[in-house]
Amino acid sequence: MNPNYPSRISIAHLPTPIEPLEKLSEFLGGPEIFIKRDDQTGLAFGGNKTRKLEFLVADALAKDCDHLVTSGDLQSNHCRQTAAAAARYGLGCSLIIRGEPQSSLNGNLLLDKILGANLYWSRDQSTSEIISNVNSELRSSRLHPYLIPRGGSNAIGAAGYVLAMQEFMAQVEQQQLTFDTIIFASSSGGTQAGLILGAKVYGYNGRMIGMSIEHPANEFKARIAALTIATASHLGVETESLSEMIEINDNYLGGGYGVIGETERESIRTLAQLEGILLDPVYTGRAMGGLIDLIRGKDLHSRQRILFWHTGGTPALFAYQNELF
Ligand SMILES: *Cc1c(COP(=O)(O)O)cnc(C)c1O
Repeated sequence: MNPNYPSRISIAHLPTPIEPLEKLSEFLGGPEIFIKRDDQTGLAFGGNKTRKLEFLVADALAKDCDHLVTSGDLQSNHCRQTAAAAARYGLGCSLIIRGEPQSSLNGNLLLDKILGANLYWSRDQSTSEIISNVNSELRSSRLHPYLIPRGGSNAIGAAGYVLAMQEFMAQVEQQQLTFDTIIFASSSGGTQAGLILGAKVYGYNGRMIGMSIEHPANEFKARIAALTIATASHLGVETESLSEMIEINDNYLGGGYGVIGETERESIRTLAQLEGILLDPVYTGRAMGGLIDLIRGKDLHSRQRILFWHTGGTPALFAYQNELF
């Protein structure tokens, strides 16, 4: 059954390329590895949130909203892409950043500021409290705020990754490729939920491994299952439970969210120096580090073909300059 997609704005450079990582494959002596470049979606340094924002911003415009409000951690890529999308569509943007005010703005925070977003710091309050305060302030100034959840991960945003799976299937057909496994960083769950529903709708039958960035697999799985169902319903797709398609690997949580370790450092250097491709310290460095470890441990068959779905995040590298070596 075909999804009934709501209207979307067109801000992403699509389709993003699929490229072979020949030197990395040779270096690891295992499966053939390819990469899908969603770090190149084109909106202010790109990343996976751009695909979600195509639907979220269209929804905001349809509801006559004039101001985007969202939240994230210090180096949130979602906040940066939301600020860029707001600028492009002439909308205001308020970002609630978890933590203490920073004396110098670096990486994504610097870009948020350049893109003209208002920054609020949660300090010791909960972000939801501040979101609701900011929301009422905006309303009392006669503005119409549109609230986007953390990571853009609701049914509206996740639709961007259902559509991404259609794009992927068209590319593999055209390039006469087949993939056994797709691996990507998974954190607020919208990317994984969208890809799973997309796989069901467009007939991708391989494995999909979400490399968990912050959550233990069990609780995360339940959240993704719920989001998958909500997204199916939003798009008018009837489907039985997709739980059996949700695979999460939580073996690489390391020191926790945003804490860089040797796994991330090594994978960032390896991709940069073998392929000239930049990963990020929080998400893709961790996911690629996990992939490299799975190949070394022979958990992935050497006759397989694997796709690493790059989800962006590279501006955060600059904020981690003292922790990368
Ligand atoms: C947000 C983000 C992810 C995780 O995507 P979710 O849809 O939140 O699971 C992965 N990589 C990067 C670079 C991100 O910014």
